[in-house]
Amino acid sequence: MKVLITGITGQDGSYLSQSLLADGAEIHGIVRQSSLEQRTRLDKLPDLKQAHSEGRLRLHYADLTDSSSIYAVVRLVKPDYLYHLAGHTHVQISYDLPEYTAQTTALGTLRILEALRQEVPKCRFFLAATSEIFGDPQESPQKETTPWDPRNPYAAAKVYALNLVRIYRSVYGLFACSGILFNHESPRRGEIYVTRKISRAAARIFRGRERELVLGSLAPRRDWSFAPDIVRGMRLIAEAPSPSDYVLASGESHSVEEFCRLAFAILGLDYRDYVRGDNPAYKRPNEIRETRGDSSMARTELGWRPEVGFEELVRILVESEVAMLDSDDE
Ligand code: NAP
Repeated sequence: MKVLITGITGQDGSYLSQSLLADGAEIHGIVRQSSLEQRTRLDKLPDLKQAHSEGRLRLHYADLTDSSSIYAVVRLVKPDYLYHLAGHTHVQISYDLPEYTAQTTALGTLRILEALRQEVPKCRFFLAATSEIFGDPQESPQKETTPWDPRNPYAAAKVYALNLVRIYRSVYGLFACSGILFNHESPRRGEIYVTRKISRAAARIFRGRERELVLGSLAPRRDWSFAPDIVRGMRLIAEAPSPSDYVLASGESHSVEEFCRLAFAILGLDYRDYVRGDNPAYKRPNEIRETRGDSSMARTELGWRPEVGFEELVRILVESEVAMLDSDDE
């Protein structure tokens, strides 16, 4: 089985590569050139490092904004599966980079689907879509039929991409499917995301390295899962008998404040002594108040369910931050 992954250097790409390699797949990943050729998520994982050195995991330079590079990789690899995880992924920064967000997340998806249609139409295509498409949702919990109401450039670009998945599936008969993914976290999540900010600050305050954490607001409520659970769901969707779009979510919603309370409590601290949620600079326009997903369709049709709950997730994040801090000191 040959698998091509866009976004292989990201959080989900690294977990997906590990999962597929364990099942004997030949992995190909698309990477961008950068001034620092460090791919920490890939280089620090012994199984991926070894697979790379043995040629079971191969990296190819390409960019979502460059059609010729995408066609070249698709033609070379001729994948059986393509997991499309790459794109500009930060909601707030998508306001600063609206055109780039559209170029990568919206048109980048079009470029990949066209390359597959023309070069390897039998390839199965998976898109990482997002709960952001629902905006400030009109119903709760949100499911596959909940109306879309994107509230930011990132969500608008994902709506375009998800529409393309449906069009290429119905018009061209491609096996094009998607996961409508709610927030999912892990120690490999980028440090600019709120769960990493909280768990990192809690660990640093615990070790006396920092004194406070300032966030935009503690009120938003999110449906948080553990990234490896979501990645397991991606594979079930892509390997299903027929293509469709599935919500992957825990079904629970917790506030940023609850996340803080738990993260600090795990270290014996009271978050109220350290956390402020009043920095206007971090406030988002069109902030979504609450997300909560209904993944009954994935649970019933695919047998998917998350294994790690909210409390365990927070503990994994906090304990990993403390361990990382302590290993830096050694
Ligand atoms: P991530 O850690 O931010 O990774 C994003 C990946 O996209 C990185 O590998 C990045 O490469 C690559 N990329 C960005 N721009 C690119 C370009 N122009 N050309 C080629 N590659 C490019 O994201 P993630 O958390 O793994 O999320 C994976 C997917 O799931 C994303 O599409 C995201 O929108 C979606 N999603 C995630 C969540 C979540 O909570 N994590 C929720 C809903 C949906 P570099 O390493 O070079 O930057």
